[in-house]
Amino acid sequence: MNSFIDHFNIARMPAAAEAFRVEVRDFLAAEAPSAPADARARSWVAADPAFSRKLAQRGWVGVTLPKAYGGAELDAFHRFVLVEELLASGAPVAAHWVADRQSGPLILRFGSPFQKDFYLPKITAGEAFFCIGMSEPNSGSDLASVRTRATKVDGGWKLNGSKIWTTNAHHCRYMIALVRSSGTVEDRQKGLSQFIVDLQLPGVVVRTIEDMTGDAHFCEVLFDDVLLSDDALVGAEGAGWSQVNAELAFERSGPERLYSSVVLIDCWIEKLRTRGTLDAHVETIGRFATQLTALREMSLSVTARLAAGETPLVEAAVVKDAGTEFEQMAPAIIEGLLGSDPADRLDDELVRACAYLSQFSPTFSLRGGTREILRGMIARGLGLR
Ligand SMILES: Cc1cc2nc3c(=O)[nH]c(=O)nc-3n(C[C@H](O)[C@H](O)[C@H](O)COP(=O)(O)OP(=O)(O)OC[C@H]3O[C@@H](n4cnc5c(N)ncnc54)[C@H](O)[C@@H]3O)c2cc1C
Repeated sequence: MNSFIDHFNIARMPAAAEAFRVEVRDFLAAEAPSAPADARARSWVAADPAFSRKLAQRGWVGVTLPKAYGGAELDAFHRFVLVEELLASGAPVAAHWVADRQSGPLILRFGSPFQKDFYLPKITAGEAFFCIGMSEPNSGSDLASVRTRATKVDGGWKLNGSKIWTTNAHHCRYMIALVRSSGTVEDRQKGLSQFIVDLQLPGVVVRTIEDMTGDAHFCEVLFDDVLLSDDALVGAEGAGWSQVNAELAFERSGPERLYSSVVLIDCWIEKLRTRGTLDAHVETIGRFATQLTALREMSLSVTARLAAGETPLVEAAVVKDAGTEFEQMAPAIIEGLLGSDPADRLDDELVRACAYLSQFSPTFSLRGGTREILRGMIARGLGLR
C-alpha cells in the first residue's frame, strides 16, 4: 500500500455475479421457509439443516470450492451475492455458515490430501457442519494466550482444555480448534496449531449457553483426554497463528457484517408504506441507504482483494468495525422512532423484530473480534502504533 486511499480501491461487481443474483432470488422465493420478520432477523444464528441441504444440492454450500469436491467453483463475487441475498431475505443459514465461509476454504488451502478428500465433499453435500473453536475462557480477544493443549502421543494427539462462545457447536459434527501443540502460554503466537475435532469423540462435552434474548445458539465445549488421530492436524504444526489470520480476513469482511439488521429495516419500511407514513421517515431511510451503500462498496473492495489471493486483514477489520456500527445503530434508531407518535398503532411483528435485534445487537461488535481489538489492528496497519 502506497497511500491511504489505496486501501479501498473501487471494485465492480462482475456482470456474471449480478446475473447470478436472479438465480438466487428465484431459488429463495421457491425454497426459503416463510417466517415473520423476528424469525428472519435470526438468519445467521438459525440452523435449518434441511434448508442448508437444499442449498447444497445447487452447489451453494462451499460455493467457492472446486467442482471436483462438489462445490460450485464460483468466485468470491458470486459468494458475495449469495450471502447478500440469503441474509437480506433472512434465510436460516447457521447450519452451514461456518463450513462455507471458513472451514471449507481453510481445508482447501492448508489441508492434507486426505482431509480434502474426506471433508470437502461432506461440506458441499451439506452433511458436515463445522464450528470455530478459537475463543477460550480468559483468552477471547487475546487468542495468542490459548491454553487448550494437544499433546503428541503414539499415533496422534491428546486434547485437553475448553472452548467457549462456539456458535452452533450443538448442531455441528466438527470443530476447527486453535490449540497449543508445543511450548508454553508465554510463547504466545508460537506453538499454536489447528486441529479438526470430531465432536462425537469420547471426552468431548458440548453445553449450550443462553444469551440475553433467551436463544441458545452458542456453546461451551470441553475436552477431556480426547484422542485425535494424526490426520486431525490442519497444515503444519505450529503454523496455527498465520492460518487463523488468513481465515479471519474471510470472517470479517463479507456482507455478513452489514446485513444483520436489514430484515428489520425492510420490515419497518414495509409497515410505513402500508400505513402511509413513509414520507415522515425519508430522511432516516436515506441515511440507512447511504451508509449501507458505502459499506457495501468497501466490502466489495475487500472481496476483490480476497479474490486476488491477498490477505487484507486491516481492510477487513475496517469493514467489520464500520459494518457492525451500522448493524447496531439501525435497531436503536428504529426503536427510538417506534411509538414516538402517540397516534401510532404498533405492529406486533415489527415490535418483536425490533426487540429481538435491540437485545442481540450488542453481540455484533463482539463476535468475530471486538471493536477495541479491530481498532488496535487498524492503528497498527496505518503505522499509528
Ligand atoms: C454471538 C457471538 C458468537 C460468537 N461465536 C464464536 C465462535 O463461533 N467461535 C469462537 O471462537 N468465538 C466466538 N465468539 C467469541 C468472540 O469472538 C469473543 O467474544 C471475542 O473475541 C471477545 O472475547 P471475550 O468475550 O473473551 O472478551 P475479552 O477478550 O475478555 O474482552 C472484554 C473487553 O475488553 C476489551 N479488550 C480485551 N483485550 C484488549 C486489549 N488488548 N486492548 C483493548 N481492549 C481490549 C475487548 O475489546 C472487550 O471489549 C462469539 C461471540 C459472540 C458474542
